[in-house]
Amino acid sequence: MGSASVRIYIAGPIFGRPDRNRAMFRRAGDAVLSQLLAIPVIPEDIQPAEHGGTPCPPGRRSEGAAHNESCYLRMDIAELVECDGICLLPGWVDSIGARLEMQVAAHCGLVFFDYNDDTGKVAEIK
Ligand SMILES: [Zn+2]
Repeated sequence: MGSASVRIYIAGPIFGRPDRNRAMFRRAGDAVLSQLLAIPVIPEDIQPAEHGGTPCPPGRRSEGAAHNESCYLRMDIAELVECDGICLLPGWVDSIGARLEMQVAAHCGLVFFDYNDDTGKVAEIK
């Protein structure tokens, strides 16, 4: 860690949080950038899967979303496995998607970090 080419995926609760928890994702991303000198990868910035005008694969659809959650998760997982580390936000355990991402990251050998939103600190989980 510590090189600008290192990428860290930010995982946490989105659905059911005010404004999809955007502000906390941004704070954690800023912390990853400034404290770890790594590039934060934030799910909101990842484009959903394109499927050429065919219907979305089965999955829930959030209010106002252009695609099913499965379209977003496919691309999130694809980005996740290209990252070097994963940073877990408070409340990640309440999120089905973040729990899945945590398991994928663990089995794919990513380095784990914890973001503390009270202190603004990112710390490696050993
Ligand atoms: Zn779709």
